[in-house]
Amino acid sequence: MNLAYCKIILQRRKDDTVKRELVKKLPKIELHCHLDGSIRPETLRKIAEQQDISLPTDDGQLKQLLVAPKDCQDLNDYLKRFELVLTCLQTETALQTAAFDIISQAAEENIQYIEVRFAPSLHTEKGLSLPKIVTAVLAGLNQGQQQFGVKSNALLCGMRHEALTEIEKIVHLAEEFKESGVVGFDLAGNEVDFPPYTFEETLALANQLNIPLTLHAGECGCGKNVADAVYLGAKRIGHGIALKDTPEYFSLIKEKDILIEMCPTSNFQTKTVTDLADYPFQLFLDSGIKVCINTDNRTVSDTTLTDEFMKLHEWYDITYTDMEQLNRNAIEGAFISNNEKQALHEQLTTGYQLD
Ligand SMILES: [Zn+2]
Repeated sequence: MNLAYCKIILQRRKDDTVKRELVKKLPKIELHCHLDGSIRPETLRKIAEQQDISLPTDDGQLKQLLVAPKDCQDLNDYLKRFELVLTCLQTETALQTAAFDIISQAAEENIQYIEVRFAPSLHTEKGLSLPKIVTAVLAGLNQGQQQFGVKSNALLCGMRHEALTEIEKIVHLAEEFKESGVVGFDLAGNEVDFPPYTFEETLALANQLNIPLTLHAGECGCGKNVADAVYLGAKRIGHGIALKDTPEYFSLIKEKDILIEMCPTSNFQTKTVTDLADYPFQLFLDSGIKVCINTDNRTVSDTTLTDEFMKLHEWYDITYTDMEQLNRNAIEGAFISNNEKQALHEQLTTGYQLD
């Protein structure tokens, strides 16, 4: 792992006006994007119609059900926006369509590589087996790759509130699909009541099976959860915001070369932070902690990766060069081979030759 990528020196060139249209066109990488939170409302409408599920006919009303409100109270309030989507995502066709839809969105903003995550156990309501669920999502991702040329892989999430035996099944599922496009395992959901060490044995199993781990941690709860997730084998951390309050763990994060997957819009919606002054983007950079930028949930957070980069530009004056570096961090942390990383680095080198 190249430590040079850890350090981003923010170059404040006030005359370097970053243009949204160009940011949209520049090659990008995304590692933290949830399938169920990222389906376009119009695609969900199509999926619902196929299954005779009635949705509000008014687009505004539908959006209200899918997008987290500005006055979203906390993570649990945010998670309510997934209920309707999950009702619709219980068939193979629906899952394939949803996965394809995400790749089409990625193509629109020139994402070269994306890791899409989902929790298979949330799609079994109508009797689909876990392997069928994964196969359907992978089919949608592959279809997207064929049509748009966007490379992608999947990450499987275990839901923290579920029985450990059920979560263990997801680890085995990741093992089963290792050669077909599943590249890692994640723990998502209620972090407060189910901190990392609850899953010590499950994660040990994943490590034993050589399944790379990226774990949601420090999204709420405490910074210690981030450190514990790393002790338990996580190579990447989803959100990691609470780490800001526990600088005693910074050296651990740096030593282990951990990548923090930051999701700015989502982090404010879930009230992980409320003031920009408390958002640790700059703190992490200054401390030599490697970060990358992500949407988390394109629809629930009503955002795109371009929007997230523009937000950071508005808040911190980041330049195209900084954006390139953040994307290179993502490449280094991606669960892909060195050859694939090299190819993506080359695509970035070409894409960011702006002069
Ligand atoms: Zn997430």
